[in-house]
Amino acid sequence: MSIKLPNIEDTAYFTVRNLKDNDDKVKGKIVLYRVKGKEEYEFYILCPICGKESQGSKIFKRRPFRLECLHCGYKIVVEKIKPKK
Ligand SMILES: [Zn+2]
Repeated sequence: MSIKLPNIEDTAYFTVRNLKDNDDKVKGKIVLYRVKGKEEYEFYILCPICGKESQGSKIFKRRPFRLECLHCGYKIVVEKIKPKK
């Protein structure tokens, strides 16, 4: 992975999710985080469909956070993780 990860203590939001391809196999991953005091989120995507990496920053107005692969347009929705009971 080529993303530079922040210190977790410096982030207001941090998540890593696996991404599945059309056969329901985990082939990709998304890392999304926001550094404290910043408005924009940094993202890294390893696309499960085309296998390419996307990286950048984005400001989200509302949840769930929607992103897409910058190469093939594969859409990713980062839902809020529900707490386990
Ligand atoms: Zn893609």
